[in-house]
Amino acid sequence: MFDLTGRVALVTGGNGGIGLGFARGLAKAGASVMLAGRDAAKSEAALAELRALGAQAEAVSVDVTNTDSIKAMVAATVSTFGRLDILVNNAGTNIRSRPEETSLADWHTVLNTNLTSTMFAAQAAYPHLKAGGVGRIINNGSMLSIFGMPLHAAYSSSKGAVVQLTKTLATAWAKDGITVNCVLPGWIDTALTRGARRDMPALDQNVRTRAPAGRWGTPEDFEGIAAFYASDAAAYITGTSIAVDGGYSIQG
Ligand code: NDP
Repeated sequence: MFDLTGRVALVTGGNGGIGLGFARGLAKAGASVMLAGRDAAKSEAALAELRALGAQAEAVSVDVTNTDSIKAMVAATVSTFGRLDILVNNAGTNIRSRPEETSLADWHTVLNTNLTSTMFAAQAAYPHLKAGGVGRIINNGSMLSIFGMPLHAAYSSSKGAVVQLTKTLATAWAKDGITVNCVLPGWIDTALTRGARRDMPALDQNVRTRAPAGRWGTPEDFEGIAAFYASDAAAYITGTSIAVDGGYSIQG
């Protein structure tokens, strides 16, 4: 039920952080994995890690803010592995600023990286996901798909919209055998949150106190949800968003 042998996964931003957690989960379940990112050194290190698990893994360079680059990423995956079954839209960024100070350029960078890329990677992958008959799209949202915070107008707008896009794609493509779901990470210890922890001294304590699990999340916490959403076990689950947050979002 959870065996992904013979399936091919493409993970944007799969060369580090949460994306590498997703990639490891898929590889451990038997999928072949294409890692997509900008930083070639990070991709090489991540590839070595996946291959050490016995996985078939390759890497492709992509800038997800460029739709031609997105199309080339999907084409490279299909030409390398012969099919595409699982698309993980994980690449993302954040530029923290108060709404009254947010520039149009920063707004577009965040929206393009987090939201527009998700839409157009899904569009590029669609014919291949449909052809394989067991298509899966896993999008990456955030606690800020649910909550607001003063420094995150662009980021929370993009991540809230990823949840709505997930539902829309799920309704559009269900009859093609494609499920589309979303993961909502809590506070996870990665490069993305290092700046926030440095600049907001109370954050570390807040996470440990509020999250019932009493700790920050780690990329390892994302291995299971990727394997589950991608599996045959989740064939009738679509349009959902599951928090992977140690209970942060349900704490009263
Ligand atoms: P990282 O900074 O470690 O990962 C971000 C990834 O996105 C990198 O692998 C990076 O690849 C890739 N990326 C960014 N911009 C581009 C681009 N233009 N083109 C291609 N790849 C790009 O942080 P996380 O692992 O924490 O973040 C992964 C996802 O998880 C993001 O969508 C983030 O919003 C989300 N998330 C994270 C949370 C956290 O607490 N850490 C909480 C909620 C959501 P490269 O380095 O090669 O550029």
